[in-house]
Amino acid sequence: MGRISRRAMLATTGLGVLSAGVPAAWGGGVGEPRTGEQESGDPRGGALPLEEYQPESMLQVKEAHVSRARYPVIDFHTHITFSAHAVNGVALGAERVYSGTPQGLLPVMARTNLRAMVNLTGGFGEGLRDSVHRLDRSYPGRFYSLTEPSYNLFGQSNYPQLQADAIVEAHRDGARGLKILKTLGLYLREQTTTGPLVKVDDPRFDLMWEACGSLNIPVAMHVSDPVAFFRPINRFNERYEELHRHPDWSFASPEYPSNAEILAARNRVFARHPKTQFVALHVGNFAENLENVSANLDRFPNMHVDIAARLNELGRQPRAARRFFDRYQDRILFGTDATPHGVEYPQQLFGDALYQIYFRFLETDDEYFDYAPAPIPPQGRWRISGIDLPDSILHKVYNQNAARLLNVTV
Ligand SMILES: [Zn+2]
Repeated sequence: MGRISRRAMLATTGLGVLSAGVPAAWGGGVGEPRTGEQESGDPRGGALPLEEYQPESMLQVKEAHVSRARYPVIDFHTHITFSAHAVNGVALGAERVYSGTPQGLLPVMARTNLRAMVNLTGGFGEGLRDSVHRLDRSYPGRFYSLTEPSYNLFGQSNYPQLQADAIVEAHRDGARGLKILKTLGLYLREQTTTGPLVKVDDPRFDLMWEACGSLNIPVAMHVSDPVAFFRPINRFNERYEELHRHPDWSFASPEYPSNAEILAARNRVFARHPKTQFVALHVGNFAENLENVSANLDRFPNMHVDIAARLNELGRQPRAARRFFDRYQDRILFGTDATPHGVEYPQQLFGDALYQIYFRFLETDDEYFDYAPAPIPPQGRWRISGIDLPDSILHKVYNQNAARLLNVTV
């Protein structure tokens, strides 16, 4: 079963903008992934390196194919543009690089019922204006760009006011909100790229948060990272393979604050700026602990979450996840972290295959399926089950909640 669905996903991916971008790791070429039955070798097995282990599930269960979402979708979390110039994890220049073009994106959007993509990393200044011009204004209602902090100004003594003014200017230029990358808390330093780390609740950002509240634009906030990234990269780490491939993603060093410290600082920001609407991305950056996310949603009425790149977590606790969606149905946004040509991170690879997995998770009660279009689950070796949401909740999660926050119509 798993083999068939992978082949189907390959076929749809091949039709999309990503025909040149099918991950090399899939092996075997498009349409013909290798299978165990075809492989020769010692039939009694033997020692096997972990990275070569690709167990094929023998479980026979139903497979729903949801190629189109039941309601038009606003994907609140995508990356169509990136900073062209970052130093030690801090974006410093206005210039953008584009990971995709509207011509490449729109056919996938049409097939999957994706009404709009929110390009979180729209940058600032000239780069933002260019992104708004090429995306938002050229295709009204299909793309929305957010701005980002001007960390290049951080060293200036009047940074708080300069940054607040930059938000007002970005809003005038068409930005629909502010995006915070994990730069804040994990990369930005006193001398911008050197010195001690700057805390998430540093008062120098207070005017920036307030400006967003006054303009009634949301702040999409990624702080911290999966808990496993703060643990040593060893045999006990459930994300070992991923961290082994990307050791630079690890924050398991005394140099960094803990996940708990970062989230506590973030919570102080939520508390201090009650008129500003915050979207705590990636299920509040703590999908491993829905009880904690729920407690924070209860404490902070100005907090919302998206589900981007966390199907691996939500789908391995489907009953708790379903209760979470029932309870916070007005504050959960659809998001994927989709990145055109993001072949390095299959869980973010923009294309039909990625969206179909999200739709299957939200709309069906299918069990034990892959959470990413990849032969080996990239964010931990497990599979997920769907949560079968009713229409009323699907509608809110697919577009209503995001439309309300962004002040747009669907
Ligand atoms: Zn992202």
